[in-house]
Amino acid sequence: MKPPPFEYHAPTSVNEVCALLGSLDDPKILAGGQSLIPLLNFRLARPRHLVDINRVEGLDRIYERDGGIAVQALVRQSVIEDSELVARVCPLLSDAVRLVAHRVIRNRGTVCGSIAHADPASELPAVLLALGGSVVAHSARSQRVIPAGELFAGMFETSLEPQELLAEAWFPAFAGKHAIFEESRRHGDFALAGVVRADKELALFGVASTPVLADPHDPTRGLEPSGDIEASPEFRLHLVKVLTERAFAA
Ligand SMILES: Cc1cc2nc3c(=O)[nH]c(=O)nc-3n(C[C@H](O)[C@H](O)[C@H](O)COP(=O)(O)OP(=O)(O)OC[C@H]3O[C@@H](n4cnc5c(N)ncnc54)[C@H](O)[C@@H]3O)c2cc1C
Repeated sequence: MKPPPFEYHAPTSVNEVCALLGSLDDPKILAGGQSLIPLLNFRLARPRHLVDINRVEGLDRIYERDGGIAVQALVRQSVIEDSELVARVCPLLSDAVRLVAHRVIRNRGTVCGSIAHADPASELPAVLLALGGSVVAHSARSQRVIPAGELFAGMFETSLEPQELLAEAWFPAFAGKHAIFEESRRHGDFALAGVVRADKELALFGVASTPVLADPHDPTRGLEPSGDIEASPEFRLHLVKVLTERAFAA
Protein backbone atom coordinates (compact mmCIF):
# COMPACT_ATOMS: atom_id res chain seq x y z
CA MET A 1 0.00 0.00 0.00
CA LYS A 2 1.09 3.57 -0.57
CA PRO A 3 0.39 6.39 1.88
CA PRO A 4 -2.29 8.98 1.09
CA PRO A 5 -0.93 12.31 -0.22
CA PHE A 6 0.61 14.70 2.31
CA GLU A 7 2.83 17.75 2.27
CA TYR A 8 6.32 17.06 3.62
CA HIS A 9 8.23 19.50 5.86
CA ALA A 10 11.82 19.10 7.05
CA PRO A 11 12.56 21.78 9.68
CA THR A 12 16.05 22.07 11.17
CA SER A 13 15.32 23.74 14.52
CA VAL A 14 12.89 23.26 17.41
CA ASN A 15 11.54 26.78 16.81
CA GLU A 16 10.79 25.90 13.20
CA VAL A 17 9.06 22.66 14.25
CA CYS A 18 6.89 24.55 16.72
CA ALA A 19 6.06 27.26 14.18
CA LEU A 20 4.97 24.61 11.66
CA LEU A 21 2.91 22.68 14.23
CA GLY A 22 1.22 25.92 15.28
CA SER A 23 0.35 27.09 11.78
CA LEU A 24 -0.40 24.00 9.68
CA ASP A 25 -3.78 22.35 9.42
CA ASP A 26 -3.62 18.74 10.70
CA PRO A 27 0.16 18.20 11.07
CA LYS A 28 1.81 15.02 12.31
CA ILE A 29 5.37 14.65 13.57
CA LEU A 30 7.54 11.99 11.93
CA ALA A 31 10.32 10.68 14.21
CA GLY A 32 11.55 7.09 13.71
CA GLY A 33 8.54 6.23 11.56
CA GLN A 34 8.29 2.72 13.00
CA SER A 35 4.66 3.21 13.97
CA LEU A 36 3.61 6.14 11.80
CA ILE A 37 4.79 4.82 8.42
CA PRO A 38 2.83 1.54 8.71
CA LEU A 39 -0.23 3.55 9.78
CA LEU A 40 0.15 5.77 6.69
CA ASN A 41 0.71 2.81 4.39
CA PHE A 42 -2.42 1.10 5.70
CA ARG A 43 -4.20 4.45 5.42
CA LEU A 44 -5.14 4.33 9.09
CA ALA A 45 -3.64 7.83 9.45
CA ARG A 46 -4.20 10.59 6.88
CA PRO A 47 -2.42 13.74 8.08
CA ARG A 48 -2.37 16.68 5.66
CA HIS A 49 1.19 17.61 6.69
CA LEU A 50 4.14 15.52 7.84
CA VAL A 51 6.70 17.38 9.96
CA ASP A 52 9.89 15.30 9.83
CA ILE A 53 12.03 16.15 12.89
CA ASN A 54 15.03 14.02 11.88
CA ARG A 55 17.09 17.01 10.68
CA VAL A 56 16.52 19.11 13.78
CA GLU A 57 19.78 20.10 15.48
CA GLY A 58 20.33 19.44 19.18
CA LEU A 59 17.54 16.96 19.80
CA ASP A 60 19.58 13.78 20.13
CA ARG A 61 21.09 14.04 23.61
CA ILE A 62 20.81 11.87 26.71
CA TYR A 63 21.88 13.85 29.77
CA GLU A 64 21.55 13.94 33.54
CA ARG A 65 19.34 16.57 35.16
CA ASP A 66 17.25 16.98 38.33
CA GLY A 67 18.30 13.62 39.75
CA GLY A 68 17.38 11.68 36.66
CA ILE A 69 18.02 11.24 33.00
CA ALA A 70 16.58 13.26 30.12
CA VAL A 71 16.12 11.61 26.74
CA GLN A 72 15.57 14.01 23.85
CA ALA A 73 13.15 13.46 20.98
CA LEU A 74 15.63 12.03 18.48
CA VAL A 75 17.33 9.53 20.77
CA ARG A 76 16.88 6.12 19.16
CA GLN A 77 15.87 3.18 21.30
CA SER A 78 19.10 1.31 20.36
CA VAL A 79 21.19 4.23 21.70
CA ILE A 80 19.46 3.82 25.08
CA GLU A 81 20.13 0.10 24.90
CA ASP A 82 23.87 0.75 24.44
CA SER A 83 24.19 3.69 26.85
CA GLU A 84 26.43 3.17 29.89
CA LEU A 85 24.91 6.29 31.47
CA VAL A 86 21.39 4.84 31.25
CA ALA A 87 22.58 1.45 32.53
CA ARG A 88 24.09 3.19 35.56
CA VAL A 89 21.40 5.77 36.34
CA CYS A 90 18.23 3.97 35.30
CA PRO A 91 18.89 0.26 34.58
CA LEU A 92 15.15 -0.45 34.39
CA LEU A 93 15.02 1.68 31.23
CA SER A 94 17.93 -0.31 29.74
CA ASP A 95 16.13 -3.58 30.50
CA ALA A 96 12.79 -2.34 29.14
CA VAL A 97 14.07 -0.99 25.84
CA ARG A 98 15.50 -4.41 24.92
CA LEU A 99 11.95 -5.77 24.92
CA VAL A 100 10.79 -3.27 22.29
CA ALA A 101 10.46 -5.00 18.92
CA HIS A 102 13.79 -5.99 17.27
CA ARG A 103 17.17 -4.23 17.04
CA VAL A 104 16.57 -3.01 13.46
CA ILE A 105 13.37 -1.32 14.60
CA ARG A 106 15.10 0.12 17.68
CA ASN A 107 17.80 1.59 15.38
CA ARG A 108 15.16 3.98 14.02
CA GLY A 109 12.41 4.08 16.68
CA THR A 110 12.73 6.80 19.31
CA VAL A 111 11.95 6.66 23.02
CA CYS A 112 9.87 9.84 22.80
CA GLY A 113 8.03 8.53 19.72
CA SER A 114 7.04 5.42 21.64
CA ILE A 115 5.75 7.55 24.52
CA ALA A 116 3.89 9.97 22.23
CA HIS A 117 2.35 7.08 20.29
CA ALA A 118 0.94 5.70 23.59
CA ASP A 119 0.31 2.17 22.43
CA PRO A 120 -1.22 0.50 25.50
CA ALA A 121 0.98 -2.58 24.95
CA SER A 122 4.23 -0.55 24.85
CA GLU A 123 6.90 -1.02 27.46
CA LEU A 124 8.33 2.52 27.72
CA PRO A 125 5.15 4.39 28.70
CA ALA A 126 4.67 1.85 31.54
CA VAL A 127 8.26 2.40 32.70
CA LEU A 128 7.75 6.18 32.69
CA LEU A 129 4.58 5.70 34.78
CA ALA A 130 6.12 3.22 37.26
CA LEU A 131 9.07 5.54 37.89
CA GLY A 132 6.97 8.71 38.14
CA GLY A 133 8.76 10.37 35.21
CA SER A 134 7.54 13.22 33.05
CA VAL A 135 7.84 14.75 29.59
CA VAL A 136 8.63 18.28 28.40
CA ALA A 137 6.32 19.61 25.70
CA HIS A 138 7.27 22.59 23.52
CA SER A 139 4.95 24.71 21.42
CA ALA A 140 5.41 28.08 19.73
CA ARG A 141 3.81 29.74 22.75
CA SER A 142 4.96 27.75 25.77
CA GLN A 143 6.94 24.99 27.35
CA ARG A 144 5.36 22.72 29.96
CA VAL A 145 6.14 19.62 31.99
CA ILE A 146 3.56 16.84 31.96
CA PRO A 147 3.89 14.17 34.68
CA ALA A 148 3.46 10.60 33.40
CA GLY A 149 0.32 10.24 35.54
CA GLU A 150 -1.35 13.00 33.50
CA LEU A 151 0.02 12.06 30.08
CA PHE A 152 -1.69 8.84 29.02
CA ALA A 153 -5.28 9.73 28.23
CA GLY A 154 -6.56 6.71 26.30
CA MET A 155 -5.63 4.18 23.66
CA PHE A 156 -3.04 5.89 21.40
CA GLU A 157 -4.02 9.14 23.10
CA THR A 158 -2.04 11.55 25.25
CA SER A 159 -2.66 14.95 26.79
CA LEU A 160 -0.16 16.49 24.32
CA GLU A 161 -1.79 19.14 22.12
CA PRO A 162 -1.49 18.71 18.32
CA GLN A 163 0.76 21.80 18.19
CA GLU A 164 3.15 20.41 20.83
CA LEU A 165 6.46 18.64 20.31
CA LEU A 166 7.41 16.10 22.96
CA ALA A 167 10.93 17.49 23.27
CA GLU A 168 12.23 15.17 25.97
CA ALA A 169 11.25 12.46 28.41
CA TRP A 170 12.66 12.49 31.93
CA PHE A 171 13.20 9.30 33.94
CA PRO A 172 14.13 9.61 37.65
CA ALA A 173 17.36 7.90 38.67
CA PHE A 174 16.43 4.56 40.16
CA ALA A 175 18.76 1.88 41.48
CA GLY A 176 16.26 -0.01 43.65
CA LYS A 177 14.70 -3.40 43.03
CA HIS A 178 13.25 -3.49 39.57
CA ALA A 179 11.97 -5.88 36.95
CA ILE A 180 10.07 -5.89 33.70
CA PHE A 181 8.37 -9.04 32.48
CA GLU A 182 6.03 -9.60 29.58
CA GLU A 183 4.49 -12.39 27.61
CA SER A 184 4.20 -12.25 23.83
CA ARG A 185 3.49 -14.81 21.14
CA ARG A 186 6.90 -14.43 19.48
CA HIS A 187 10.13 -12.67 20.40
CA GLY A 188 9.82 -8.99 19.46
CA ASP A 189 6.02 -8.96 19.23
CA PHE A 190 3.95 -6.53 21.26
CA ALA A 191 3.15 -7.90 24.72
CA LEU A 192 -0.11 -9.70 25.45
CA ALA A 193 0.41 -8.42 28.98
CA GLY A 194 3.35 -7.02 30.90
CA VAL A 195 4.39 -5.74 34.31
CA VAL A 196 6.98 -3.23 35.48
CA ARG A 197 8.21 -3.22 39.06
CA ALA A 198 10.08 -0.26 40.55
CA ASP A 199 10.57 -1.12 44.22
CA LYS A 200 6.98 -1.18 45.61
CA GLU A 201 5.41 0.42 42.51
CA LEU A 202 3.77 -1.77 39.90
CA ALA A 203 2.66 -0.65 36.43
CA LEU A 204 0.86 -2.89 33.95
CA PHE A 205 0.77 -2.70 30.17
CA GLY A 206 -1.25 -4.48 27.49
CA VAL A 207 -4.27 -4.91 29.76
CA ALA A 208 -6.10 -1.55 29.62
CA SER A 209 -6.42 1.39 27.25
CA THR A 210 -3.37 3.01 28.89
CA PRO A 211 -0.56 1.79 31.14
CA VAL A 212 -1.92 1.62 34.69
CA LEU A 213 -0.55 1.57 38.23
CA ALA A 214 -1.72 -1.39 40.28
CA ASP A 215 -1.60 -2.81 43.80
CA PRO A 216 1.12 -5.51 43.88
CA HIS A 217 -1.00 -7.49 46.40
CA ASP A 218 -4.06 -7.47 44.14
CA PRO A 219 -2.85 -6.48 40.66
CA THR A 220 -6.00 -7.47 38.74
CA ARG A 221 -8.46 -5.52 40.92
CA GLY A 222 -10.66 -3.36 38.69
CA LEU A 223 -8.96 -4.55 35.49
CA GLU A 224 -11.15 -5.39 32.52
CA PRO A 225 -8.76 -6.26 29.69
CA SER A 226 -10.19 -6.85 26.26
CA GLY A 227 -9.91 -10.13 24.40
CA ASP A 228 -8.70 -10.63 20.84
CA ILE A 229 -7.42 -13.35 18.55
CA GLU A 230 -4.16 -13.46 20.56
CA ALA A 231 -5.51 -13.74 24.10
CA SER A 232 -8.79 -13.83 26.03
CA PRO A 233 -9.45 -11.36 28.89
CA GLU A 234 -9.13 -14.25 31.38
CA PHE A 235 -5.73 -15.23 29.98
CA ARG A 236 -4.50 -11.63 30.24
CA LEU A 237 -5.63 -11.47 33.89
CA HIS A 238 -3.85 -14.76 34.55
CA LEU A 239 -0.67 -13.37 32.96
CA VAL A 240 -0.80 -10.25 35.15
CA LYS A 241 -0.95 -12.38 38.30
CA VAL A 242 1.87 -14.71 37.25
CA LEU A 243 4.14 -11.91 35.97
CA THR A 244 3.56 -9.81 39.11
CA GLU A 245 4.53 -12.75 41.33
CA ARG A 246 7.64 -13.22 39.21
CA ALA A 247 8.55 -9.52 39.37
CA PHE A 248 8.28 -9.38 43.15
CA ALA A 249 10.15 -12.66 43.61
CA ALA A 250 12.97 -11.47 41.36
C1 LIG B 1 7.34 -5.06 13.83
C2 LIG B 1 7.23 -4.01 14.90
C3 LIG B 1 7.21 -4.43 16.21
C4 LIG B 1 7.11 -3.49 17.22
N1 LIG B 1 7.10 -3.93 18.53
C5 LIG B 1 7.02 -3.02 19.52
C6 LIG B 1 7.03 -3.44 20.89
O1 LIG B 1 7.15 -4.62 21.22
N2 LIG B 1 6.91 -2.48 21.85
C7 LIG B 1 6.79 -1.13 21.52
O2 LIG B 1 6.68 -0.30 22.43
N3 LIG B 1 6.80 -0.70 20.25
C8 LIG B 1 6.91 -1.61 19.24
N4 LIG B 1 6.92 -1.16 17.95
C9 LIG B 1 6.80 0.30 17.69
C10 LIG B 1 8.19 0.96 17.67
O3 LIG B 1 8.81 0.82 18.88
C11 LIG B 1 8.14 2.48 17.36
O4 LIG B 1 9.46 2.84 17.24
C12 LIG B 1 7.57 3.41 18.41
O5 LIG B 1 6.30 3.02 18.76
C13 LIG B 1 7.38 4.83 17.83
O6 LIG B 1 8.57 5.52 17.78
P1 LIG B 1 8.99 6.26 16.41
O7 LIG B 1 10.12 7.13 16.74
O8 LIG B 1 9.19 5.24 15.34
O9 LIG B 1 7.70 7.17 16.13
P2 LIG B 1 6.90 7.47 14.78
O10 LIG B 1 6.45 6.21 14.16
O11 LIG B 1 7.67 8.42 13.93
O12 LIG B 1 5.65 8.25 15.40
C14 LIG B 1 4.67 7.57 16.17
C15 LIG B 1 3.62 8.58 16.66
O13 LIG B 1 4.17 9.43 17.67
C16 LIG B 1 4.17 10.81 17.23
N5 LIG B 1 5.46 11.37 17.65
C17 LIG B 1 6.69 10.81 17.44
N6 LIG B 1 7.64 11.57 18.01
C18 LIG B 1 6.99 12.61 18.58
C19 LIG B 1 7.43 13.73 19.35
N7 LIG B 1 8.72 13.92 19.65
N8 LIG B 1 6.49 14.62 19.80
C20 LIG B 1 5.17 14.43 19.52
N9 LIG B 1 4.70 13.39 18.81
C21 LIG B 1 5.60 12.49 18.36
C22 LIG B 1 3.99 10.77 15.72
O14 LIG B 1 3.37 11.94 15.23
C23 LIG B 1 3.11 9.52 15.57
O15 LIG B 1 1.77 9.85 15.85
C24 LIG B 1 7.02 -2.09 16.92
C25 LIG B 1 7.08 -1.68 15.57
C26 LIG B 1 7.18 -2.62 14.57
C27 LIG B 1 7.24 -2.14 13.16
